[in-house]
Amino acid sequence: MVVSGGAGFIGSHLCEALLTRGMRVLALDNFITGSRDNLYPLAEHPDFEFRQANVNERIDVEDEVRFVLHFASPASPPQYDANPIHTLKVGTLGTMNMLGLARAKGATFLLASTSEVYGDPLVHPQPESYWGNVNPIGPRGCYDEAKRCAEAFAMAYHRAHGVDTRIIRIFNTHGPRMQVLDGRAVPNFMAQAIRGEPLTVYGDGSQTRSLCYVSDLVRGILAAIEKGDDQPVNLGNPEEVTVLELAQIIVRLSGSSSPIQFRPLPVDDPKQRRPDITRARKLLAWQPEVALEDGLSRTLEYFRRVVPGT
Ligand code: UDP
Repeated sequence: MVVSGGAGFIGSHLCEALLTRGMRVLALDNFITGSRDNLYPLAEHPDFEFRQANVNERIDVEDEVRFVLHFASPASPPQYDANPIHTLKVGTLGTMNMLGLARAKGATFLLASTSEVYGDPLVHPQPESYWGNVNPIGPRGCYDEAKRCAEAFAMAYHRAHGVDTRIIRIFNTHGPRMQVLDGRAVPNFMAQAIRGEPLTVYGDGSQTRSLCYVSDLVRGILAAIEKGDDQPVNLGNPEEVTVLELAQIIVRLSGSSSPIQFRPLPVDDPKQRRPDITRARKLLAWQPEVALEDGLSRTLEYFRRVVPGT
């Protein structure tokens, strides 16, 4: 198995799950947003190898490879805003290189795509058949369009070269090893609640998200590798909340007395997001099992360890 972005939040959980299932794993990461700390639980495993590499350049692997899983990319809005060119490159050139590796090795390729391909969706909930509503020139364009191009690359290699490909569209996910400073709602709210600072809700907080716990997502990825086909499949938890509700739940779960503070809504912030997972249920026999508050409680345990309170 080759996993790009193996030192990232989702990538490292995926590597761990693959090792537990007896696979040999080569993880690649350039640490733009991944972290060495995420690799500590894996580093000593005899079937785990790590290479610091930028997948925007050609990657050569000597051993046999059966699966190439492309998870490398900045993935939170402030991070891709801070690295827009790299984000575009890793979705386009990086995807092409990983597909080239899969083709050369006769391996199955899996693309970690995203609900951002739906942009600010005009169809709700979002089925895979929806083509999306993306602003190519807005601050999210570098990520959204790179991932849309990545999907087009996967389909082109599938059609032109017969590569066995999978596309998963990952919706908002949370869990241990999320970066405290990546700027997303869950890490921000949890760190703020633990420190007793105000929770920064953008806009009026009426925008919605649907949050999946990372262990559910990883099960879905493994099912997609095993049972998926070349067509995209949504992976996410359809339990939808407003961002204001999310902030209030986190305040309650953490026993914090932090107030809510409203801040301006970022440009092109999607107003609603919820996966239609009918296809994942049928094709992969998969659905999330961890309820929203249970998952948030587990993530909160992690943040309590890494964020010192006041
Ligand atoms: N958000 C917020 N406060 C924060 C960070 C994010 O209100 O401190 C909002 C953000 O505007 C968005 C939602 O929470 O509407 C989810 O944002 P996130 O960055 O987690 O991911 P996105 O789903 O937008 O990619």
